Amino acid sequence: MNMDLQQLYQETIVDHGRRPHNLGPLPDETHHAEGFNPLCGDRLVLHLRIVDDRIEAARFEGSGCAISMASASLMTDALRGLSSDQAGRMSTDFQAMLTAGTPAPDLGKLEVLAGVRNYPTRIKCATLAWHALRAALANAPQTVHTE
Ligand code: ZN
Repeated sequence: MNMDLQQLYQETIVDHGRRPHNLGPLPDETHHAEGFNPLCGDRLVLHLRIVDDRIEAARFEGSGCAISMASASLMTDALRGLSSDQAGRMSTDFQAMLTAGTPAPDLGKLEVLAGVRNYPTRIKCATLAWHALRAALANAPQTVHTE
């Protein structure tokens, strides 16, 4: 990879790690799941609002290293508007990019995390949010009781 591009990728990760997008609770969520990466101490809870099989909102709460926060930040940005099938496919593509080095042109900005493949101990940091995503999508929607 060319050095300028590598630096740009690095800066994007640091930036999202410091100031994650979509950080905070989602009061009208329909799905959620928690993730914990004991190797690094990264923890997060992913909140989704899915209406008519369309992800209307994705937010997360938690704390961890820059890579785990950047991955959750970029993932929640990318999920909005997707169907659960599309989100599942994105998760598979992301995992393949990190573990097998499969090019993933459809991942857009998430491609900045491709370099994590060279640091095997950090791969679990990058995939944590995605494990939570798969768990959240597998949940039956919660019944909301307002009374
Ligand atoms: Zn980490």
